[in-house]
Amino acid sequence: MSAKTYFEPQSAIPVYDECDVLVVGGGSAGHSAAIAAARAGCKNIILMERYGYFGGDVTGGYVIVVPNLSWYNKSFIRGLQEEWFTRLAKIPGAMRAPSLKDIGCTDPALLHMYGQLTDAVSRATFEGCKPKQLVRSVAFEPNFLKIEMDKMLLEHSDSIRILCHSWGTKPIMEGDVCRGVIFESKEGRKAVLAKVVIDATGDGDIYTRSGAPYQTLSDGATRSNTTALVWRAGGIDWNAFYEWQQQYPEAARAFRTGLMERGGYRISPIASNSNEICWMNNWHANRDCAKIEAQTYTELKTRDTIYAALDYMREAVPAFRNAYLYDIAPQLGTRCSKRLTGEYVMTANDFAFASQFEDVIAWSSTICQINDCGPVEIPYRAILPQKVDNLLAPGRHLSADAVAIDWVNLIPQCVQTGQAAGVAAAVAVADGTTAHTVNIKKVQDILVEQDVPLPRNELFHAKDPSYEELVEEKHCGLYTAMAKKAREEADGETLKKFRQW
Ligand SMILES: Cc1cc2nc3c(=O)[nH]c(=O)nc-3n(C[C@H](O)[C@H](O)[C@H](O)COP(=O)(O)OP(=O)(O)OC[C@H]3O[C@@H](n4cnc5c(N)ncnc54)[C@H](O)[C@@H]3O)c2cc1C
Repeated sequence: MSAKTYFEPQSAIPVYDECDVLVVGGGSAGHSAAIAAARAGCKNIILMERYGYFGGDVTGGYVIVVPNLSWYNKSFIRGLQEEWFTRLAKIPGAMRAPSLKDIGCTDPALLHMYGQLTDAVSRATFEGCKPKQLVRSVAFEPNFLKIEMDKMLLEHSDSIRILCHSWGTKPIMEGDVCRGVIFESKEGRKAVLAKVVIDATGDGDIYTRSGAPYQTLSDGATRSNTTALVWRAGGIDWNAFYEWQQQYPEAARAFRTGLMERGGYRISPIASNSNEICWMNNWHANRDCAKIEAQTYTELKTRDTIYAALDYMREAVPAFRNAYLYDIAPQLGTRCSKRLTGEYVMTANDFAFASQFEDVIAWSSTICQINDCGPVEIPYRAILPQKVDNLLAPGRHLSADAVAIDWVNLIPQCVQTGQAAGVAAAVAVADGTTAHTVNIKKVQDILVEQDVPLPRNELFHAKDPSYEELVEEKHCGLYTAMAKKAREEADGETLKKFRQW
């Protein structure tokens, strides 16, 4: 990079609009925040998105599996996340998943049937895990979700104004209080003023310029520290591939290694909503998805290796003999770049010790196997920046250390924290409080009204006490040998061993 600097002349920036709640970024977190704020009664919301559609990674990045929504026979992640699937279920072929009534089931025929879908059967990989059972994990068609996400917003057009192709670049700060955002567009540079700003850009584009503390990337060993450009292969027979893997595990292992060798990076076929299509997930190691060099490399390197990967798939696996390039995701796969250092930083200890928080906003079954994928509590403070007020940061850039980030920045947690941020912003505006002084009890009660299960909340308890009973009966999932070991040796270094991705 050149060492030269250009000084931009001062210029007056036109205020394009003013609102109560401004959401920057319309991915799973930002989309959920806008909808939840509207349903919590806020009538003056702006949702700003740099592209022309909503969903971010899930629609544009073709990340088309939402895993671990349930634990035993309870669906912990409901609210807006489950609403996606209620809508998609009405569209023929738009999704594949165990139904809510079957979760927790141990019937071998059903386990075999859903075993081919990612994480639809509990892994039971480690000593002491619960027996294999069905888990609510959903594979879906991203283009249908794109349309449904539009519809959800349009249903709230009395409350939400949408700015597409508008790229938020900088917070407008008055001391340590965020008062709006400057953005770039085809109409030039403009500003939106707001009472509360929700940074849902995934890369902390707003909070990193606000003076709030944050961390850059995770370390080299994490899932978060990888980029991707997902593509899809058509003309395959996923059922046949699944049976082939069961029958020839050695050959299946060799195939996955061979695929990695052809690409020069980790690449793996994953089941989709259709038997004829799979998505090709990939992991370019040690890449920061917010760095120009890494973004450019990932785009070009992936496309450059697609033909080689396809040739190898056709040659190595009978079920892929007729595979062809179905399509390439419209946008880069971004796992993590910046992490907020918020008022609370989540760590592996929250999983190993089942931390309880007064300000809990999500009770999230996860991919973490320390507690057998059991529900962990996410506090409001994990999306609340230190130092800066009237700014919230839900989604994949929330406040977690380099280990916990891999477990709390998946789609469900982005939706959950987004939904909570939207409600909190609406409550703060309605009550004339701030993001820091918001009445958290009120936020929790509205979340419960929006179908979000929360522990120790009397409204939720009155609705359904069986969740708390299950968690108590199953000791928060802390019966695994891994949890025992983690609790005995609870220091950062040891817990790093428990990563799985
Ligand atoms: C390849 C890959 C595979 C994954 N696999 C899984 C999986 O199997 N299951 C799972 O649950 N999770 C998975 N994840 C993680 C998950 O997809 C993401 O963490 C999650 O979708 C992020 O949601 P988000 O809303 O926080 O961020 P994003 O989806 O990144 O959304 C951010 C939104 O903000 C917009 N934006 C960004 N910057 C600006 C700006 N400055 N101004 C305006 N708009 C802006 C973007 O265009 C986007 O719409 C995977 C991720 C990747 C990349």
